[in-house]
Amino acid sequence: MENLNQISTTDGNARAITHDKFTRRGFLGIGSAALAAAGMVPAIRAAGQEQTDRSRSDPGPSNPTLDAQNPDSMWPPDTDSKSLVQTFKYPFSFANKRVYEGGWSREVTVRELAVSKSMAGVNMRLTAGGVRELHWHTAGEWAIVLYGTARITAIDANGKSFVADVNKNDLWYFPSGIPHSIQGLDPDGTEFMLVFDDGDFSESETVLLSDSMAHIPREVLSKNFGVAEQAFKDLPRQELFIFQTEVPGSLEADQNAAAGSLGKSARDFAFRTMEMPPIKRTKGGEVRIVDSSKFKVSTTVAMAMVTLRPGGLRELHWHPNADEWQYYISGKGRMTVVATGNRARTMDFQAGDVGYVENALLHYIENTGDTDLTFLEMFKSSFYQDLSLSEWLTHTPPELVMAHLRIDKATFDAMPKDKAVVLPR
Ligand code: MN
Ligand code: MN
Repeated sequence: MENLNQISTTDGNARAITHDKFTRRGFLGIGSAALAAAGMVPAIRAAGQEQTDRSRSDPGPSNPTLDAQNPDSMWPPDTDSKSLVQTFKYPFSFANKRVYEGGWSREVTVRELAVSKSMAGVNMRLTAGGVRELHWHTAGEWAIVLYGTARITAIDANGKSFVADVNKNDLWYFPSGIPHSIQGLDPDGTEFMLVFDDGDFSESETVLLSDSMAHIPREVLSKNFGVAEQAFKDLPRQELFIFQTEVPGSLEADQNAAAGSLGKSARDFAFRTMEMPPIKRTKGGEVRIVDSSKFKVSTTVAMAMVTLRPGGLRELHWHPNADEWQYYISGKGRMTVVATGNRARTMDFQAGDVGYVENALLHYIENTGDTDLTFLEMFKSSFYQDLSLSEWLTHTPPELVMAHLRIDKATFDAMPKDKAVVLPR
């Protein structure tokens, strides 16, 4: 086993690497991310000598695993600014997990990620039979199923019932004040991401059936429901929130029993994302956009689901209408956000991370891994909207653009004339 000093001939301060995997052969073969994790940048050759950049060493305490996951924070690209850009990443791995019999819940809100003022996310797991109890809240709730199958229930504003089963990539939306529940189905329950149109939202501050009933005098419950007080002797004294019960029977039976004489709701609170073809498909990837033009009830939340192939780029763009809340579903990528006042920062993302871009700031997302990168762009808006940097520049008088960028006409002419969305085409 050799340490780094044996190959960095000019930098006596280089941190010695003593881990077994960093043999000389291994060191020369590993990528820049792992080198960054080791507090080093790749050796460069100058005048026939191997050197390291003295400034790019990090001899003090470090966390190599986290550093390797965040190479653009460890050693930012030269184009990032030295002045601060508020952190726009929070991994769900850091979130406080509330574990119950029947499942768990964790949230990333403005309290965890200070920049995320307009939206919040809750990640939840329910076992087969596990229930997120009947409840409602003032925020609108948008959701995507990440795993398995769930049965969702609600009533509409006319009191008519809605019951549906949802599978991976299906969506639901429950407007403010509409009561609802979620239950995991066979064989292994479900996991999903809830997105709320309020950064201040918290799953621990919703109106729960159990909690509400526990705070109403028994004689009032007796009058309200027309049954003896004794009938409520076993009411839970504490909230259930998530609890384990039996897997429900057939969907049709539940729908009919819930509908009763009022009949079923005419509103569809669910949306089958994969029954819709992508709105854009290129060599670089594909995009599905679901807003209230397709998913009628979703009047406060719009989604773009983006998949980038390895090396693919979600082109430089911005959104004139809303902040963007992101959730990374699979793969690895990086994003640069250009803020106002000569500031910019690049951060790295992977499955389970939340990202955030404030309203109208320029950004791109690049797949930096060797598998597909899939993520959600979420907006507190009834509609999806973006502007492409390429489309803007190529629909501005050419001489004006050429004078700004100091480019020739051939370069201007080569720029894409329409919105590519995902590159390469
Ligand atoms: Mn809810
Ligand atoms: Mn975007």
